[in-house]
Amino acid sequence: MSLIDVKSFAAGQWVTPDNNAREIFNAVTGDKIARAGNAALDVEAMLDYGRSKGGPALRAMTFHDRARMIKALALEIGKHKQALYDISFATGATQSDHMIDIDGGIGTMFVFASKGRRELPDSHVYLDGNVEQLSRNGTFLGQHVATSMQGVAVHINAFNFPVWGMLEKLAPTLLAGVPAIVKPATATSYVTELAVKIMLDSGLLPEGALQLVSGGLGDMLDRLTHQDVVSFTGSAHTALQLRSAPHILKNSIRFVAEQDSLNASILGPDAAPGTPEFDLFIKEVQREMTTKAGQKCTAIRRILVPEHQSSAVIEALSQRLAKTVIGNPQVEGVRMGALVSQSQKNDVLKCASLIGTEAERVYGDPDNFVVKGADADTGAFVPPMLFHCENPDQATIVHETEAFGPVSTVMGYRDIDHAVALANRGEGSLVASVITHDPEVARSVVLGAGAFHGRLYFNNRDSMKESTGHGSPLPHMVHGGPGRAGGGEEMGGIRGVMHYMQRTAIQGSPDILSAVGRKWVPGSTETSAPAHPFTRSFHELQIGETIHTKPRQITVEDIEHFAHFTGDTFYAHMDAEAAKRNPFFPDRVAHGYLLLSFAAGLFVEPNEGPVLANTGLDNLRFMKPVEVGDSIKVRLSVKHKTPRNDEYGEIRWHVTLTNQDDELVAEYELLTMNAYERQS
Ligand code: NAP
Repeated sequence: MSLIDVKSFAAGQWVTPDNNAREIFNAVTGDKIARAGNAALDVEAMLDYGRSKGGPALRAMTFHDRARMIKALALEIGKHKQALYDISFATGATQSDHMIDIDGGIGTMFVFASKGRRELPDSHVYLDGNVEQLSRNGTFLGQHVATSMQGVAVHINAFNFPVWGMLEKLAPTLLAGVPAIVKPATATSYVTELAVKIMLDSGLLPEGALQLVSGGLGDMLDRLTHQDVVSFTGSAHTALQLRSAPHILKNSIRFVAEQDSLNASILGPDAAPGTPEFDLFIKEVQREMTTKAGQKCTAIRRILVPEHQSSAVIEALSQRLAKTVIGNPQVEGVRMGALVSQSQKNDVLKCASLIGTEAERVYGDPDNFVVKGADADTGAFVPPMLFHCENPDQATIVHETEAFGPVSTVMGYRDIDHAVALANRGEGSLVASVITHDPEVARSVVLGAGAFHGRLYFNNRDSMKESTGHGSPLPHMVHGGPGRAGGGEEMGGIRGVMHYMQRTAIQGSPDILSAVGRKWVPGSTETSAPAHPFTRSFHELQIGETIHTKPRQITVEDIEHFAHFTGDTFYAHMDAEAAKRNPFFPDRVAHGYLLLSFAAGLFVEPNEGPVLANTGLDNLRFMKPVEVGDSIKVRLSVKHKTPRNDEYGEIRWHVTLTNQDDELVAEYELLTMNAYERQS
């Protein structure tokens, strides 16, 4: 079979490997299958291409344009899933592993595409937090904003998830408007190359938005500027080497690190054998040990159980592990494939021996296990190996050595505080899980262990049917962890996008802030509407367009009618003496909801028109009570516009109610869905 030439895509050209390219082997057969790398890759030209072509093109698109592009890319990869599955078997992965990598990667793209449309504006500037009042009269305000970094994002990925590992970084990067240079781990780079080719061939990406380095990066990292970002996934050793390079430190180049992790799973004190939680725990641990042959950054390495349950856990887990058929992932019935390479196998066996100096191997013998449909020696196979550490307090290796394969250690704990202390011995991890039906156990773990773990996953009989699994990083939630895990955070919804944007504090007048954020800020110049705003379509309405209504006086009959009609006869509306005894009210006062209803009556235009529906109120505040005889009037301004689908978009209106003395009575944001076009 001829070797696959894993190409790079550099400055618009596919570049084939040169004679010094690194060799890549089939994990299952040990055959040489591919080569990658070209020492003559012009990394300066790649950086320039990304910065001068990809960046400006992406920044010209709005967040919504980029979100639509990400969705289209996900659909395109989805169309070619089978080809990606087929090529991935050579990495040692099973079909279920492919689903995590390929379908999981596509799913992550969809979530970012959807979040981009729902949580980011159809514009170029992200508003971070609320307007800050910096002056007494409101003529000088503050607002944090985020804008796209003007360099490139260099993504350095680990070998274990060649598709998901790329897409979970690419989606937030593209959404931020930043071009990416992806450098997959060489061992599985042929899978990433295919996924990149699918995206580039689709024609959906602007020129320069995505480049690929197969093989070594050369001196690219020494050529970065403070506008570039490095997003690294891999071992703590490599991360330290790269992030401590003088050029990176000197130029304060952002370096997001996702490193290795000694993740723990805790069997709650309440989860005795016979409970649904005990069975769930055994299932989750077995799955985490064997999925991807344990080559998951989130895999459970330390199994913490009540001391008196150690034997029961070891027995139940061993029985389940015994059912795991190991072998060629393309052979029927195989549940666990090979490690990625012989060198990983050697590494895992070395780490397992080291762990064996502090713990007894109670399941799995690397010298004696069955491999189905492949040669155990030429393929990179190891069996699941379970250890038992009798004295975890005295041990260090079991808390510090990551065997990046199907290797875990059972340790007994005395009480939940002890379990927390042991979980924290990992010195910072990506995830810790707790299987408990006791909410107070969960709270103790959050208080004791939260600061040591990027994610805490709780599961029990109530959530187990819908839960996603200890080891699944989700695009909505932060993935990363403190200390040994690298100190980075990826994904986490829009938080992940912010790695590729710069936060800037903007200070200025309301008009300046309104123009910067494309969002009306109270105190800005109002424009009077040429017609009632409810008669104007989404596209016709302008930010800052305002109407002022006539006043309406509040009578005692209004209050009583509303009270009896709705059943809200709260004393402050009905009984003057009782109201006066209340520190908030001078006398009988109008219901807040009556005021809101009257406000709607004052500003609504009743005829059929572009306003399709009122979808809610945000940030409602009642500032001053309204008494009998007071009058209220309304100011309604267009604050913000967000397209929602092909027919209509959301208008966020800023609404204030003031009394006869122009004092603020109530303030809120009204949301309506408005048709893009006016119906004729
Ligand atoms: P690795 O050996 O540290 O390699 C990671 C990446 O760094 C690869 O792309 C590698 O490229 C690249 N690299 C190595 N030396 C480099 C250098 N001098 N300059 C530029 N790039 C360099 O890790 P791995 O073996 O691929 O992955 C296993 C490790 O990753 C485990 O420790 C695991 O826990 C961790 N991991 C963490 C996460 C997470 O999210 N926290 C996820 C997955 C894996 P080459 O392959 O070309 O050398």
